[in-house]
Amino acid sequence: MMPPPFTHRYARVLIIAGSDSGGGAGIQADLKAVAALGAYGMTAITALTAQNTRGVRAIHGVPPAMLRAQIDAVAEDIGADAVKIGMLHAPEIVHAVADALDAHHLAPVVLDPVMISTSGSRLLQDDAVQALVAELFPRAALVTPNLDEAGFLTGRRLDDEAGMAAAADELLARGAPAVLLKGGHLPGDEVADLLATRAGGRRWLRAPRIASANTHGTGCTLSSAIAARLALGDTLDAAVQSAHAYVRQALAAGAAVRTGAGSGPLNH
Ligand code: PLP
Repeated sequence: MMPPPFTHRYARVLIIAGSDSGGGAGIQADLKAVAALGAYGMTAITALTAQNTRGVRAIHGVPPAMLRAQIDAVAEDIGADAVKIGMLHAPEIVHAVADALDAHHLAPVVLDPVMISTSGSRLLQDDAVQALVAELFPRAALVTPNLDEAGFLTGRRLDDEAGMAAAADELLARGAPAVLLKGGHLPGDEVADLLATRAGGRRWLRAPRIASANTHGTGCTLSSAIAARLALGDTLDAAVQSAHAYVRQALAAGAAVRTGAGSGPLNH
Protein backbone atom coordinates (compact mmCIF):
# COMPACT_ATOMS: atom_id res chain seq x y z
CA MET A 1 0.00 0.00 0.00
CA MET A 2 1.22 3.52 -0.77
CA PRO A 3 2.03 5.68 2.24
CA PRO A 4 -0.26 8.67 2.71
CA PRO A 5 0.73 11.79 0.76
CA PHE A 6 3.14 14.10 2.55
CA THR A 7 1.06 17.15 3.33
CA HIS A 8 3.23 19.21 5.68
CA ARG A 9 3.59 22.79 4.58
CA TYR A 10 6.46 24.90 5.78
CA ALA A 11 4.82 26.38 8.83
CA ARG A 12 7.05 26.33 11.89
CA VAL A 13 5.81 26.03 15.47
CA LEU A 14 8.09 26.49 18.48
CA ILE A 15 6.81 24.57 21.49
CA ILE A 16 8.05 25.82 24.88
CA ALA A 17 6.85 23.22 27.39
CA GLY A 18 7.62 20.32 29.70
CA SER A 19 8.29 16.70 28.84
CA ASP A 20 5.87 13.94 29.87
CA SER A 21 7.75 10.64 29.89
CA GLY A 22 4.41 8.84 29.56
CA GLY A 23 3.81 10.43 26.18
CA GLY A 24 0.34 11.69 27.05
CA ALA A 25 0.81 15.42 27.66
CA GLY A 26 3.57 18.01 27.36
CA ILE A 27 5.89 18.19 24.39
CA GLN A 28 5.12 14.63 23.36
CA ALA A 29 1.45 15.54 22.82
CA ASP A 30 2.38 18.93 21.39
CA LEU A 31 4.62 17.51 18.66
CA LYS A 32 1.99 14.96 17.64
CA ALA A 33 -0.67 17.65 17.37
CA VAL A 34 1.54 20.03 15.40
CA ALA A 35 2.49 17.27 12.96
CA ALA A 36 -1.10 16.06 12.59
CA LEU A 37 -2.30 19.58 11.81
CA GLY A 38 0.28 19.91 9.07
CA ALA A 39 3.07 22.02 10.56
CA TYR A 40 6.70 21.53 11.63
CA GLY A 41 7.38 21.43 15.37
CA MET A 42 10.44 22.42 17.39
CA THR A 43 10.86 22.25 21.16
CA ALA A 44 12.43 24.25 23.95
CA ILE A 45 12.01 22.07 27.04
CA THR A 46 11.33 23.78 30.37
CA ALA A 47 11.25 20.76 32.66
CA LEU A 48 11.43 17.00 32.61
CA THR A 49 8.72 15.06 34.37
CA ALA A 50 8.93 11.42 35.37
CA GLN A 51 5.32 10.59 34.74
CA ASN A 52 2.92 7.88 33.69
CA THR A 53 -0.86 7.55 33.54
CA ARG A 54 -1.01 7.30 37.34
CA GLY A 55 0.71 10.56 38.10
CA VAL A 56 3.84 12.70 38.20
CA ARG A 57 6.68 11.09 40.20
CA ALA A 58 9.34 13.77 39.85
CA ILE A 59 9.99 17.12 38.16
CA HIS A 60 13.43 18.35 37.14
CA GLY A 61 13.49 21.97 36.01
CA VAL A 62 15.79 22.99 33.16
CA PRO A 63 18.10 25.91 34.08
CA PRO A 64 16.80 29.17 32.53
CA ALA A 65 20.04 29.66 30.57
CA MET A 66 19.62 26.25 28.95
CA LEU A 67 16.01 27.03 28.10
CA ARG A 68 17.14 30.30 26.53
CA ALA A 69 19.86 28.48 24.59
CA GLN A 70 17.26 26.16 23.07
CA ILE A 71 15.05 29.07 22.00
CA ASP A 72 18.01 31.03 20.62
CA ALA A 73 19.28 28.03 18.69
CA VAL A 74 16.05 27.44 16.80
CA ALA A 75 15.04 31.10 16.45
CA GLU A 76 18.40 32.15 15.01
CA ASP A 77 18.43 29.40 12.43
CA ILE A 78 14.99 27.98 11.67
CA GLY A 79 12.56 30.66 12.87
CA ALA A 80 8.95 30.21 13.97
CA ASP A 81 5.55 31.20 12.58
CA ALA A 82 3.80 30.55 15.89
CA VAL A 83 4.68 29.60 19.45
CA LYS A 84 2.89 27.36 21.91
CA ILE A 85 3.75 27.76 25.61
CA GLY A 86 2.83 25.04 28.10
CA MET A 87 4.32 24.05 31.47
CA LEU A 88 6.73 26.72 32.73
CA HIS A 89 7.43 25.35 36.21
CA ALA A 90 9.33 28.25 37.84
CA PRO A 91 9.35 32.08 37.86
CA GLU A 92 12.86 32.26 36.33
CA ILE A 93 11.58 30.22 33.41
CA VAL A 94 8.69 32.65 32.92
CA HIS A 95 11.15 35.57 32.83
CA ALA A 96 13.45 33.74 30.41
CA VAL A 97 10.55 33.00 28.06
CA ALA A 98 9.30 36.60 28.11
CA ASP A 99 12.80 37.89 27.30
CA ALA A 100 13.31 35.39 24.52
CA LEU A 101 9.94 36.14 22.91
CA ASP A 102 10.92 39.82 22.75
CA ALA A 103 14.49 39.22 21.63
CA HIS A 104 13.38 37.14 18.65
CA HIS A 105 10.04 38.90 17.97
CA LEU A 106 8.28 35.54 18.28
CA ALA A 107 4.52 35.65 17.57
CA PRO A 108 1.72 34.71 17.61
CA VAL A 109 1.87 33.00 21.00
CA VAL A 110 -0.70 30.50 22.28
CA LEU A 111 -0.30 30.34 26.07
CA ASP A 112 -1.69 27.32 27.91
CA PRO A 113 -1.44 28.38 31.58
CA VAL A 114 -0.60 24.90 32.85
CA MET A 115 -0.73 24.81 36.66
CA ILE A 116 -1.81 21.49 38.12
CA SER A 117 -1.93 18.07 36.47
CA THR A 118 -5.16 16.11 36.44
CA SER A 119 -3.46 13.78 38.91
CA GLY A 120 -2.94 16.71 41.31
CA SER A 121 0.76 17.64 40.92
CA ARG A 122 1.84 21.28 40.89
CA LEU A 123 3.37 22.01 37.48
CA LEU A 124 3.78 25.76 38.10
CA GLN A 125 5.24 27.02 41.36
CA ASP A 126 3.07 29.44 43.37
CA ASP A 127 5.43 32.37 42.92
CA ALA A 128 5.41 31.91 39.13
CA VAL A 129 1.69 32.55 38.71
CA GLN A 130 1.93 36.33 39.08
CA ALA A 131 4.83 36.48 36.62
CA LEU A 132 2.90 34.35 34.14
CA VAL A 133 0.01 36.80 34.14
CA ALA A 134 2.09 39.99 34.18
CA GLU A 135 4.73 38.97 31.66
CA LEU A 136 3.10 36.48 29.34
CA PHE A 137 -0.59 37.44 29.08
CA PRO A 138 0.29 40.66 27.21
CA ARG A 139 2.68 38.79 24.91
CA ALA A 140 0.13 36.11 24.00
CA ALA A 141 -2.37 36.11 21.15
CA LEU A 142 -4.53 33.60 23.00
CA VAL A 143 -4.61 32.18 26.54
CA THR A 144 -6.29 28.79 26.98
CA PRO A 145 -7.15 28.06 30.64
CA ASN A 146 -9.36 25.22 31.74
CA LEU A 147 -11.99 25.85 34.43
CA ASP A 148 -9.63 25.09 37.31
CA GLU A 149 -6.93 27.40 35.97
CA ALA A 150 -9.37 30.22 35.24
CA GLY A 151 -10.91 29.74 38.69
CA PHE A 152 -7.50 29.91 40.32
CA LEU A 153 -6.43 32.96 38.32
CA THR A 154 -9.62 34.92 39.01
CA GLY A 155 -10.55 33.61 42.44
CA ARG A 156 -14.01 32.77 41.10
CA ARG A 157 -16.06 29.63 41.48
CA LEU A 158 -16.81 28.65 37.93
CA ASP A 159 -19.83 26.43 37.95
CA ASP A 160 -21.91 27.80 35.10
CA GLU A 161 -21.65 29.65 31.81
CA ALA A 162 -22.28 33.05 33.37
CA GLY A 163 -19.32 32.47 35.65
CA MET A 164 -17.20 31.41 32.67
CA ALA A 165 -18.10 34.58 30.77
CA ALA A 166 -17.22 36.78 33.76
CA ALA A 167 -13.90 34.97 34.27
CA ALA A 168 -13.02 35.30 30.58
CA ASP A 169 -13.73 39.04 30.75
CA GLU A 170 -11.52 39.36 33.80
CA LEU A 171 -8.64 37.54 32.09
CA LEU A 172 -9.01 39.86 29.08
CA ALA A 173 -8.85 42.82 31.42
CA ARG A 174 -5.65 41.42 32.94
CA GLY A 175 -3.83 41.58 29.62
CA ALA A 176 -4.78 38.64 27.42
CA PRO A 177 -6.07 39.80 24.02
CA ALA A 178 -8.11 36.62 23.64
CA VAL A 179 -9.14 33.79 25.95
CA LEU A 180 -10.35 30.29 25.14
CA LEU A 181 -11.92 29.10 28.38
CA LYS A 182 -12.46 25.35 28.26
CA GLY A 183 -15.63 24.20 29.97
CA GLY A 184 -15.13 20.44 29.72
CA HIS A 185 -14.97 19.99 33.49
CA LEU A 186 -18.53 21.31 33.97
CA PRO A 187 -21.08 18.48 34.23
CA GLY A 188 -23.66 17.94 31.51
CA ASP A 189 -24.25 16.21 28.18
CA GLU A 190 -22.99 19.23 26.30
CA VAL A 191 -19.52 20.76 26.56
CA ALA A 192 -19.24 24.52 26.09
CA ASP A 193 -15.93 26.28 25.49
CA LEU A 194 -15.88 30.07 25.30
CA LEU A 195 -13.69 32.07 22.92
CA ALA A 196 -13.69 35.70 24.07
CA THR A 197 -11.62 38.48 22.54
CA ARG A 198 -10.81 41.97 23.77
CA ALA A 199 -12.20 43.28 20.51
CA GLY A 200 -15.58 42.24 21.85
CA GLY A 201 -16.20 38.87 20.27
CA ARG A 202 -17.73 36.14 22.37
CA ARG A 203 -18.28 32.80 20.69
CA TRP A 204 -19.45 29.63 22.42
CA LEU A 205 -18.24 26.35 20.93
CA ARG A 206 -20.85 23.81 21.98
CA ALA A 207 -20.69 20.09 21.29
CA PRO A 208 -22.10 16.88 22.70
CA ARG A 209 -19.86 15.40 25.38
CA ILE A 210 -17.71 12.48 24.21
CA ALA A 211 -17.43 9.94 26.99
CA SER A 212 -13.81 8.85 27.31
CA ALA A 213 -11.45 8.14 30.19
CA ASN A 214 -8.55 9.06 27.90
CA THR A 215 -8.28 12.82 28.34
CA HIS A 216 -4.76 13.30 29.73
CA GLY A 217 -3.02 15.82 27.47
CA THR A 218 -6.20 17.21 25.92
CA GLY A 219 -5.31 20.80 26.84
CA CYS A 220 -1.74 20.50 25.55
CA THR A 221 -3.02 19.03 22.30
CA LEU A 222 -5.66 21.71 21.79
CA SER A 223 -3.30 24.63 22.30
CA SER A 224 -0.63 23.11 20.05
CA ALA A 225 -3.18 22.39 17.33
CA ILE A 226 -4.28 26.03 17.50
CA ALA A 227 -0.66 27.19 17.21
CA ALA A 228 -0.15 24.93 14.20
CA ARG A 229 -3.18 26.34 12.40
CA LEU A 230 -2.15 29.91 13.21
CA ALA A 231 1.30 29.14 11.79
CA LEU A 232 -0.40 27.93 8.62
CA GLY A 233 -2.21 31.25 8.31
CA ASP A 234 -5.65 30.57 9.79
CA THR A 235 -7.51 33.33 11.59
CA LEU A 236 -7.83 32.82 15.36
CA ASP A 237 -11.45 31.78 14.95
CA ALA A 238 -10.68 29.24 12.23
CA ALA A 239 -7.64 27.89 14.11
CA VAL A 240 -9.69 27.35 17.26
CA GLN A 241 -12.41 25.54 15.30
CA SER A 242 -9.95 23.22 13.52
CA ALA A 243 -8.16 22.41 16.76
CA HIS A 244 -11.45 21.80 18.55
CA ALA A 245 -12.52 19.38 15.81
CA TYR A 246 -9.15 17.59 15.97
CA VAL A 247 -9.37 17.06 19.73
CA ARG A 248 -12.94 15.79 19.43
CA GLN A 249 -11.90 13.28 16.76
CA ALA A 250 -9.07 12.08 18.98
CA LEU A 251 -11.38 11.75 22.00
CA ALA A 252 -13.87 9.71 19.99
CA ALA A 253 -11.28 7.54 18.25
CA GLY A 254 -9.43 6.68 21.46
CA ALA A 255 -12.35 6.26 23.84
CA ALA A 256 -12.00 2.47 24.02
CA VAL A 257 -8.19 2.30 24.14
CA ARG A 258 -6.58 1.26 27.41
CA THR A 259 -3.15 2.76 28.10
CA GLY A 260 -1.69 2.20 31.57
CA ALA A 261 -3.70 1.78 34.74
CA GLY A 262 -4.46 5.44 35.45
CA SER A 263 -5.75 8.45 33.53
CA GLY A 264 -5.31 7.46 29.89
CA PRO A 265 -3.76 9.77 27.31
CA LEU A 266 -5.71 11.35 24.52
CA ASN A 267 -5.06 9.02 21.61
CA HIS A 268 -3.70 10.82 18.59
N1 PLP B 1 2.76 17.00 32.32
C1 PLP B 1 3.18 17.96 31.51
C2 PLP B 1 4.62 18.01 31.13
C3 PLP B 1 2.25 18.90 31.03
O1 PLP B 1 2.65 19.88 30.23
C4 PLP B 1 0.90 18.79 31.41
C5 PLP B 1 -0.13 19.70 30.94
O2 PLP B 1 0.05 20.60 30.21
C6 PLP B 1 0.51 17.80 32.25
C7 PLP B 1 1.47 16.92 32.68
C8 PLP B 1 -0.88 17.70 32.73
O3 PLP B 1 -1.72 17.18 31.81
P1 PLP B 1 -3.15 16.73 32.33
O4 PLP B 1 -3.72 17.87 33.09
O5 PLP B 1 -3.88 16.44 31.08
O6 PLP B 1 -2.93 15.55 33.20
